[in-house]
Amino acid sequence: MLYTDAAKLERINICSDMQKDPHGFVELMEVMGSIEKVVKVAGVSYGKNEVESEEDRQKRIITTLLAKKHLSPFEHLVFTFHIKLPIFVMRHLVRHRIASVNEKSGRYTAFNVRDFWIPDFDRIQGQANRDLLVAGYEQAFKIYEHLLANGVKKEVARAVLPVAAYTEIYWTVNARSLMNFFDQRLAKTAQYETREYAQAVLSLVSRRFPLVFQHYAQP
Ligand SMILES: Cc1cc2nc3c(=O)[nH]c(=O)nc-3n(C[C@H](O)[C@H](O)[C@H](O)COP(=O)(O)OP(=O)(O)OC[C@H]3O[C@@H](n4cnc5c(N)ncnc54)[C@H](O)[C@@H]3O)c2cc1C
Repeated sequence: MLYTDAAKLERINICSDMQKDPHGFVELMEVMGSIEKVVKVAGVSYGKNEVESEEDRQKRIITTLLAKKHLSPFEHLVFTFHIKLPIFVMRHLVRHRIASVNEKSGRYTAFNVRDFWIPDFDRIQGQANRDLLVAGYEQAFKIYEHLLANGVKKEVARAVLPVAAYTEIYWTVNARSLMNFFDQRLAKTAQYETREYAQAVLSLVSRRFPLVFQHYAQP
């Protein structure tokens, strides 16, 4: 379930329909570049028509670039996101190498023991399965807390935690690489939970740059 945080227009919360509070989110922290910059960079090869308005020119150039798959000008438009996501979703995201990632350190910061992903109802085939999953998480987090209390270092104790635990990252990625990310991670073949994060990212960037991401359906 995706919804925009009313207090922060640049943040989309991601919440399972079985959780009361949102745990995950995608926040657009910074945009480096503009349509003007992309058009200027591409304008070298696509010339200038004196009778055209600037808006029409931008539309023509962006649409031509996309149609001809001349995508390198989009590398000059760069986004930084702050994302809170389950570890298993992060493992999908970090496979996209044309991006920069920094993750919250599990060596120096303790995991929040109440922070774990719960699937949507139709992903877990009933309340009994949901309870079994949560019992597993709770047991793992209890052991984690015990290990920390016994003096075990965070970097060692974290080994017991499930991939459902939430982590946080800063993710810097350019618009071209994002298109590749959307092609793969919005597809039906991508895991549903990863698709939800991809949709949140799409929603944030296409609000700002609808022309650039015009080929992707809005969530
Ligand atoms: C449905 C699905 C299932 C997947 N299953 C698995 C899995 O089981 N195991 C697994 O390990 N991964 C899996 N992946 C990840 C997948 O193999 C890619 O690593 C990931 O999707 C990133 O794609 P990418 O390489 O195009 O993106 P990026 O890493 O961002 O690269 C962008 C582009 O740069 C070029 N490029 C980048 N690095 C190189 C390179 N070293 N050599 C040549 N060209 C390069 C390529 O053209 C590439 O498309 C899966 C992905 C999807 C969508």
